[in-house]
Amino acid sequence: MQRPYLERVPDKKGYFGKYGGAFIPPELEKAFKEINEAYEKLSKSFEYLDELRRIRKHFQGRPTPVYYCHRLSEYIGGGQIYLKREDLNHTGAHKLNHCMAEALLAKYLGKKKIMAETGAGQHGVALATAAAYFGLECEIHMGEVDMEKERPNVVRMQILGAKVVPVKHGLRTLKEAVDSCFESYLKQADTAMYAIGSVVGPHPFPKMVRDFQSVVGFEAKEQFYEMTGRLPDACAAVVGGGSNAMGLFSAFIEDPVELYAVEPLGKGEKLGEHAASLTYGEEGILHGFNSIMLKDEKGNPAPVHSIGSGVDYPSVGPEHAYLKEIGRTQVKTISDDEAIDAFYKLSRLEGIIPALESAHAVAYAMKHAKEHKDEAILVNLSGRGDKDIDFVVENYPIPDTI
Ligand SMILES: *Cc1c(COP(=O)(O)O)cnc(C)c1O
Repeated sequence: MQRPYLERVPDKKGYFGKYGGAFIPPELEKAFKEINEAYEKLSKSFEYLDELRRIRKHFQGRPTPVYYCHRLSEYIGGGQIYLKREDLNHTGAHKLNHCMAEALLAKYLGKKKIMAETGAGQHGVALATAAAYFGLECEIHMGEVDMEKERPNVVRMQILGAKVVPVKHGLRTLKEAVDSCFESYLKQADTAMYAIGSVVGPHPFPKMVRDFQSVVGFEAKEQFYEMTGRLPDACAAVVGGGSNAMGLFSAFIEDPVELYAVEPLGKGEKLGEHAASLTYGEEGILHGFNSIMLKDEKGNPAPVHSIGSGVDYPSVGPEHAYLKEIGRTQVKTISDDEAIDAFYKLSRLEGIIPALESAHAVAYAMKHAKEHKDEAILVNLSGRGDKDIDFVVENYPIPDTI
């Protein structure tokens, strides 16, 4: 008998088919091996899992509910749309699910500090929150351009006690922040732990972060069954690096449920206008792992765009590349304008303001429901939209009617 998917994939070296692996400088091999061994041990430890369960319940506010969107479903006039409400997680998004578990791992390893890069600041805020909870130091590397754009998140991290390191070279955005953080980590890997913000990076992070996020899917499966007496026909989630999507999908991989990975099409199909790596990319190594990435003419990571700042990344978690290749997931795209439309519709019809990233998944679910009148689709509402409201109203005037 074959072992279950989640035990079988990835293999021991962190490969999902040909994707994944660990492409890191030799100086860091020891540190990643240490993290991998600790994770293998702790993921089977009653004490670790019990502490994680307690944190999720009493600090994060889990389980988050599954909610049936009756007015939105009625408005579409087709299938039924359900949401897994990750926006109700403490700090307003799914990211705390893996940040708390990573910080707990750091604590078990006896580390004094957790560190990471951040783009829009969402991962930085979640990690700073976890660091405060455990009494760990926190060092966040962030491009100067991003710091300027995302002022409130910089201040949040500082209030929570994190040290924010401005990155002043190159384009001064996410890619340089990753380089800068790796450089700093090299000097202090004995006392610090790197905590990656999605199902990306070198092994074991894509597996580890998926496992930490799988609580989303396993909760949702049980809740959906309790509400309806069956499984959903389809699941949908937005894919940036891919952690909230893997969180939902992982519980359904071996079930007869269609899985839709929704990518940001931004302003259009031309390189530089979108961040749809799975749709338009090709195989390549970036940030220590092999996957499908968007490249420019020279083969370097291409510039990307999306109104969802948490999803504008030129590569994607290796498991998504694998699941697409074996035909287990279907990849769809949603434009900036379609995401804005879903943002306003969900707000107006259900009283839920979604994060712009999550609005992509809602937009796809609306299209799907229209075409599949007898089906139920379960969407991972990965985060709340408070962070996005100023940007939205400045650029997309509030409609009188929807
Ligand atoms: C960061 C973020 C994402 C994208 O990250 P994934 O790893 O693809 O889940 C999506 N939604 C929200 C609300 C985020 O903060």
